[in-house]
Amino acid sequence: MKKLIVLGAGESGAGAAVLGKKQGYDVFVSDMGEIKPEYKKLLDDHEIKWEEKKHTEELILQADEVIKSPGIPDKAPIIQKLKALHTPIISEIEFAGRYTDAKMICITGSNGKTTTTMLIYHILKNSGLNVGLAGNVGNSLALQVAENCHDYYVLELSSFQLDGMTEFKADVAILLNITPDHLDRYNYNFQNYVDSKFRITQNQTEKDAFIFWNDDPVIREELKKRDIHATLFPFSLQREEKTKAFIENEQLIIKTLNTIFSMPANELSLKGMHNTFNSMAAGLAASIVNIRKENIRQSLQDFQGVEHRLEYVATVKNIKFINDSKATNVNSCWYALQSMKTPVILILGGTDKGNDYTEIEELVKEKVSGLIFLGVDNSKLHNFFDGKIEKIKDVNSMEECVREAYNMAKSGDTVLLSPCCASFDLFKNYEDRGKQFKICVRNL
Ligand code: ADP
Repeated sequence: MKKLIVLGAGESGAGAAVLGKKQGYDVFVSDMGEIKPEYKKLLDDHEIKWEEKKHTEELILQADEVIKSPGIPDKAPIIQKLKALHTPIISEIEFAGRYTDAKMICITGSNGKTTTTMLIYHILKNSGLNVGLAGNVGNSLALQVAENCHDYYVLELSSFQLDGMTEFKADVAILLNITPDHLDRYNYNFQNYVDSKFRITQNQTEKDAFIFWNDDPVIREELKKRDIHATLFPFSLQREEKTKAFIENEQLIIKTLNTIFSMPANELSLKGMHNTFNSMAAGLAASIVNIRKENIRQSLQDFQGVEHRLEYVATVKNIKFINDSKATNVNSCWYALQSMKTPVILILGGTDKGNDYTEIEELVKEKVSGLIFLGVDNSKLHNFFDGKIEKIKDVNSMEECVREAYNMAKSGDTVLLSPCCASFDLFKNYEDRGKQFKICVRNL
């Protein structure tokens, strides 16, 4: 019996273990942290052996194959040891892909993945397809492959998941954009991160589709260097010779092999330039899998958006509060600021991932009347913004943050939480940060 070791027993690891067991592997699950009760139960129900708060090396190093959670960095000692032994290390998605013929619609990019994934899922589901949602959002792909029989999967893939994928093929691949993010995990080498993102096109043939943002400078440069076999579906705000989705006369136009689809751009439910891109990518993907035009149109109009992404919270004394806690890098904050129509009190700060604030400098000068720095160590923010914006305040709790922002704001302003940083210094995660923000705003 082949020995399958699963490292990390979160959603993806626990699901992979169940699928491995079903496929006849001898499975062992090991997690350095504590395993959540629901996953322990799942493993026990399937009679899968597991350990927590340790990695028993003697057992792990005997693996024929290892499935690694995307959360475990390559520099973790156990991974280094497995690499020295040349043990294959793959991701849960790669593993699950071996055991299904379902069509895979895969989304990656530095920003907009979750929004676009949820939007495509919404369109396919509303059209009556038998579709599963997996990857970074939703349930484990492996568990769904083990237990359900979907015809389609919509998968959000991070660069870390893509790193563990070699044989997997996307039928429809979407690359939304590439801007610096997670450089701490890529030895501060941007090209390594770019290469990870481009893995979304690997193994594709001309029968498959590659959807991408045509105006992204990084993607453009890469396409010159690479030999992509998939059929290309570039999207852009402007019509160009090869673009398959664009805006013309205020209409969103989508052109796929046999059809042309159009709808008024102002009827898209998601607002802001970045969301127009996300809607284009989703509309293209839906057209490629032959969803009827009325269904695409309807779903692009009635999609409700995703929590913590430019989410409207409340208006208090004519001051509007927006929760964009998911903006954990500088580029997503750029798009948030770009879509603001009033003066802004901007809340920045948290755990820095190697940020360069030059990208938002112009927009901050143009639109921001006050800055609140919410973090344990705000020195990098001060170094950059001091002297450029008059009103700056340091805070280290959400309560204080919302109070100070409220005091700083004038009637008609918008308070925007779009922090450019991860949240782990003061919060459990970005969801916790966003939820606390909303509670404090509602308590004003
Ligand atoms: P991801 O899953 O890639 O992190 P999300 O959909 O969760 O993306 O959005 C993350 C942040 O990026 C949010 O602040 C959102 O407003 C912003 N955003 C969404 N789509 C785009 C895009 N196409 N380009 C740039 N920023 C975007």
